[in-house]
Amino acid sequence: MQTNMSINSVQIIENAKTIAETILRPLAADIDQSGNYPTEGLKALGDNGYWGLTISRQHGGLGSDLLTTVKVIEKLAEACPSTAMCFKMHLEAINPIKELATKEQINEFLRPIAAGKLFAGVAANEAGRGPGNIASLAIQNTSGDFILENCHKSFVTSAHFADIFSLIAKHDPSTTDITSFLVRRNTPNSRITVDSTWNGFGMRGNDSCSMTFAGSIPASGLVGTIGGWKEIRPLHIPFVFLSYAGVYLGIASGAFREMVTQVTGRYSVASDVPETVRKHLGESKVTLEATRALLYRAAAEVDAGTADLELCMASCVSADETALKITDVAMLLGGGSAYAKRTPVERYLRDAHAGRIMVPQDEQTKLNLGSASLGTM
Ligand SMILES: Cc1cc2nc3c(=O)[nH]c(=O)nc-3n(C[C@H](O)[C@H](O)[C@H](O)COP(=O)(O)OP(=O)(O)OC[C@H]3O[C@@H](n4cnc5c(N)ncnc54)[C@H](O)[C@@H]3O)c2cc1C
Repeated sequence: MQTNMSINSVQIIENAKTIAETILRPLAADIDQSGNYPTEGLKALGDNGYWGLTISRQHGGLGSDLLTTVKVIEKLAEACPSTAMCFKMHLEAINPIKELATKEQINEFLRPIAAGKLFAGVAANEAGRGPGNIASLAIQNTSGDFILENCHKSFVTSAHFADIFSLIAKHDPSTTDITSFLVRRNTPNSRITVDSTWNGFGMRGNDSCSMTFAGSIPASGLVGTIGGWKEIRPLHIPFVFLSYAGVYLGIASGAFREMVTQVTGRYSVASDVPETVRKHLGESKVTLEATRALLYRAAAEVDAGTADLELCMASCVSADETALKITDVAMLLGGGSAYAKRTPVERYLRDAHAGRIMVPQDEQTKLNLGSASLGTM
């Protein structure tokens, strides 16, 4: 029997699917071709409360657990990976503060986000430094503000469009400790510039540009404590891995659906479909469902408070590899039409390659998992 909570989750996922199929999917090809930001799809999500998907009901959000959240991301990515990635980055940006917000931050950030008035981006990674190696400084002055120095972020999704940014920086050049902030684009003392344009190989609607943050962040933008990233990280990292996995699983799922459409459109009866093609479909189905099962299990364990970081890492790598594998098979079975860009397959294939590049990188994650298996992590 379903509980009230699970009925609510089912509705949240179903409504997301409706938005994905009626708004995101029809716009996906145009967003890919033009490289335009997916404003319309994201607005529809905001108007329906999804910008506050993970924010508690007490603070105006939908109060979804991680399992519901990854299923929503999956549905969106199945229709338009670019929109889903912008949306996932928004949820990632607000993930630390949704747990740690002060009374003032609940009113300044959480309620407006849940009301669809503030959209967020993640300003974390820095060029040429590898994951987690941060040079940006935010040094507190006597009035409590944090003065920004050398704060260049290499890729920030939604760079021209987000209202707020989750930014990480060091509070002292001599420390490796990292501090987390929420920075508004328009505050009197901040100078935020977007330094590039986005013309990506895939995820073409993402507006993932380099940015410079200068001036100061008011004390009210501090998330948690100074140097407190080490306490935030263990709670945040499973969300990061599994929300990426949701996007990659959605891409795989969208490509699989396309594969079936192509094949059924080519043969009038299923028995006419060549054996090799049926085997490719069967193998893809096995991979897809195994990946889905791993992701849902990892998310359910996080929700149950028994999070297994290695399972989350494995799920992210598996989802990325599944997206790469299934989009490749979809291209193979789609044949000349797929290669000639007459179907969405090549778009899914290009979008899937973002997973190879984006932190957490698969190679590093596998290395960490291998080391953990040997008890050396
Ligand atoms: C579509 C897209 C959207 C993105 N959105 C965001 C965002 O919203 N916010 C954000 O903060 N970042 C974002 N990124 C950045 C992303 O997560 C990576 O940090 C970035 O793509 C790495 O590229 P780089 O050229 O700066 O990497 P570099 O650090 O210059 O590394 C280049 C390559 O060298 C290798 N390498 C270097 N150092 C290491 C290491 N320590 N371990 C393993 N391999 C290493 C890797 O193969 C890496 O791909 C986005 C990237 C893309 C492609």
